[in-house]
Amino acid sequence: MTLGEFALGGFEAHGVRHDIVISGRVVNLDMTRLAADLKRVCEAQIALFEPRTKKAPVERYVFMTVAVSDGYGGLEHRASTALICNRSDLPVRGRPEMTEGYRTYLGLCSHEYFHTWNVKRIKPASFAPYDLSQENYTTLLWLFEGFTSYYDDLMLVRSGLIGAGEYFNLLGKTIGGVLRGTGRLKQSVAQSSFDAWVKYYRADENASNAIVSYYQKGSLVALAFDLSIRAQTANRKSLDDVMRLLWQRYGRDFYRGKPRGILEEDVEALFAEATGADLRALFRDGVRGTRDLPLDALLEPFGIALTPDLPTNGTAGKPSLGVRVRGGADCTLAAVHENSAAQKAGLSAGDVLVAIDGLRVTGANLDALLLRYLPGAKIEVHAFRRDELRRTEVKLDAPDVSRYTLTAIDGRGPSKQWRERWLKG
Ligand SMILES: [Zn+2]
Repeated sequence: MTLGEFALGGFEAHGVRHDIVISGRVVNLDMTRLAADLKRVCEAQIALFEPRTKKAPVERYVFMTVAVSDGYGGLEHRASTALICNRSDLPVRGRPEMTEGYRTYLGLCSHEYFHTWNVKRIKPASFAPYDLSQENYTTLLWLFEGFTSYYDDLMLVRSGLIGAGEYFNLLGKTIGGVLRGTGRLKQSVAQSSFDAWVKYYRADENASNAIVSYYQKGSLVALAFDLSIRAQTANRKSLDDVMRLLWQRYGRDFYRGKPRGILEEDVEALFAEATGADLRALFRDGVRGTRDLPLDALLEPFGIALTPDLPTNGTAGKPSLGVRVRGGADCTLAAVHENSAAQKAGLSAGDVLVAIDGLRVTGANLDALLLRYLPGAKIEVHAFRRDELRRTEVKLDAPDVSRYTLTAIDGRGPSKQWRERWLKG
């Protein structure tokens, strides 16, 4: 429920009323543009699940957003979603450009809307019915959150709100994010799903070294399935067919009659039934195992080369300590990455760096100080651990690879048509 001042808008998507409620004061909100853009996203998703009838899963839907100065998040409901965004993310009348903030907000709306099918109706058996009195365990969050995270941005490109280049940038960032954490080599997305209650939502400073995100890695697992199915079937089948079969079998009638969720042991067979593709290796290594996904090989038939971004200039080009720092007056290490320069020198999360080669370091000037050095340089670091001053020597590493680049390189063969088919749906 929303009380107080708010802006109202709305649109029809395949004949169903969708309302937009924005509370919080937003100057010059371009509601007309927001409604037009969301309509495209919603219609694309409805058509994905019901290509023939274009029947929405709800009688009416409400996007409820609270606009604040600094916030981001969303929660899916059966026929609505509650979102928080920065007011600067919302579109401004007279400024038609696609800002990063607005694209992020549209991605969030797309994510929560996709949940209307995937998790609010298609559910794991252990959530059907959901027992609110205790924690409900499942190994399938990679399918419900990961696949939803894959489709949220994909639906933006399919509905024409962003271009292929922008979509590849987003993918390159996700790939970089997943490959940065060594937790991915220790925990599968199936385990990560099961441990969500005790680990993911209780992340500590060691999280990136110990756990993997079933959102981020789960979205890459979805990408791997999609590309693999398409390549094996010459683009006649795709992950969309998996989603449709899940929908027909479990989702469509979920609120009519006896609710039935999918059993974990039935998932692999359903993928095979929907597509006819051999996905055993991906289930073994990508879902239940911890091997890195063979994304370069999977992207190749679609005419896409995957390369790490090796930054040489700008702050991204600074030699790496291998830490995450809490910004502010103190340079407190929020996380120390495994096998990093800092870890080899004995630094750990919680340490407060005070000086590098005798110069005072803060949360704000660390990058500037590091930029004076080249990879391989040895620096003297003074740091407090609790109230004890320590001195250590750190040998700086090469700059971190934080993202990957996806480049279209079409040779002979159908790669271009395949890529367009994938991105157009
Ligand atoms: Zn979600």
